[in-house]
Amino acid sequence: MQTLTFRHQYLKNLTTKIKYLFKRSTKLLELFFPTKCLGCQIPNIFLCPSCLTQIPINQNQYCPLCLNQNQFGAVCTFCKSKNSSSWHLDGLFVTTQYQKNSLLQNTIQTMKYHHGYDIAPLLGQWMASAFLVQKNIVSYFEKFTLNPVPLHPQREHDRGYNQAFLLAKSLSEIIHLNLTDYLKRHRNTPPQAHLDRESRLKNLQNSFSLKEKTQILNKKFILVDDVCTTGSTLNECAKILKFNGAKTVWGLVLARGYCQI
Ligand SMILES: [Zn+2]
Ligand SMILES: [Zn+2]
Repeated sequence: MQTLTFRHQYLKNLTTKIKYLFKRSTKLLELFFPTKCLGCQIPNIFLCPSCLTQIPINQNQYCPLCLNQNQFGAVCTFCKSKNSSSWHLDGLFVTTQYQKNSLLQNTIQTMKYHHGYDIAPLLGQWMASAFLVQKNIVSYFEKFTLNPVPLHPQREHDRGYNQAFLLAKSLSEIIHLNLTDYLKRHRNTPPQAHLDRESRLKNLQNSFSLKEKTQILNKKFILVDDVCTTGSTLNECAKILKFNGAKTVWGLVLARGYCQI
């Protein structure tokens, strides 16, 4: 049974790799390896609109630290004063809750690990629609600039793209906010899933910096990423932006998981 699963996984990986190598969608390759919806298997799309709408969008937003509900997910005043020296992110807008063994997990994993390059714009559009449906959100974030959480260059080279950049690009086209890519990741940090928040913060220290001397004094940013758990990565990016003069830094993620991802 295990051998079969392994073989299936191997073939799946091989298929996606071949598709990627041949730039994904020549007619011939589509003939041999047709793209199918990850939910209902209909052809020619990674995730059809009908399956996408089955993923529940968060109706409410919460302080990312104490999880008390508020308008867009701002860090509440209590958490702000309690964590003033270690917490730099001003808020976190979460599109949906991450669930294991779900269509969403399968979609995110295909986007990240199986060359699902074309999934990112679909998810970016979906994130944008969840964002725009919130009352008064457009005026609240009017002067903000989107910036993706960077991947380590080696990982980006291996994958061929940074999915967070693709999500941010798609978002920027729909919600009409500028897109920048100011941050770089110079430590390829080990996986964090098994670490608590304290250890994650330590693990990430000195992992990010500004790409070049960019003038960001008093600028406002929304960091974009696919998934987060404790928010430590976003917080570390927010720290760098703020140390370099940024005024406000929020996060906008596709999904947040409160367990291991
Ligand atoms: Zn479908
Ligand atoms: Zn709070």
